[in-house]
Amino acid sequence: MKTIALIAHDRKKEEMLNFVLENKEQLAHYELIATATTGKIIKENAGLSVTTFLSGPLGGDQQIGSRVACQKVDIVIFLRDPLTAQPHEPDITALLRICDVHNIPVATNASTARLVLQAVAKKE
Ligand code: PGA
Repeated sequence: MKTIALIAHDRKKEEMLNFVLENKEQLAHYELIATATTGKIIKENAGLSVTTFLSGPLGGDQQIGSRVACQKVDIVIFLRDPLTAQPHEPDITALLRICDVHNIPVATNASTARLVLQAVAKKE
């Protein structure tokens, strides 16, 4: 089963929830992991099962990055906020870097995320 990591910065959480609701049927077939608040919102509002890690600023990005490094994540959907400074900027950069190191698809906006899911659906 594919594992998809979901992370959204605060100003992108509503967009993430809309994306998840739009693609709920497909996402229900995958193992979902997420940072704390993003995962909580998805669980409560979409009713999907999500394994949650720490919140991003507390190390959640690094926890997800470690799973990427161990080849345990197939796709990362990371709706980051490019207009707001984040206290954990180094962790964000590290997560994007480790996805590139391991050639793991990482979508940093909802349009790319939709294309990635469409591509995965076509292959299945
Ligand atoms: P959160 O973490 O889902 O716990 O908010 C994501 C982030 O803000 O980096």
